[in-house]
Amino acid sequence: MLSRNATTNLNRRQSAMRRLRRRNASASMLYCRTNGCASFLVPDQTAGSATCPVCGYTRRLPRTN
Ligand SMILES: [Zn+2]
Repeated sequence: MLSRNATTNLNRRQSAMRRLRRRNASASMLYCRTNGCASFLVPDQTAGSATCPVCGYTRRLPRTN
């Protein structure tokens, strides 16, 4: 019984970590990273792209709707 609880807790923790990682992945979409640029892109929904205010790099945004 004790081991079953431990397994359930582990599974729960792993799914939580997976969820967290997925959220981080979508957040990193807006992280510039161009030539070591440590800025975040500013999304422009009407243009369907995101632009970095520091280096001017523009990345197309995936359609969410
Ligand atoms: Zn940049």
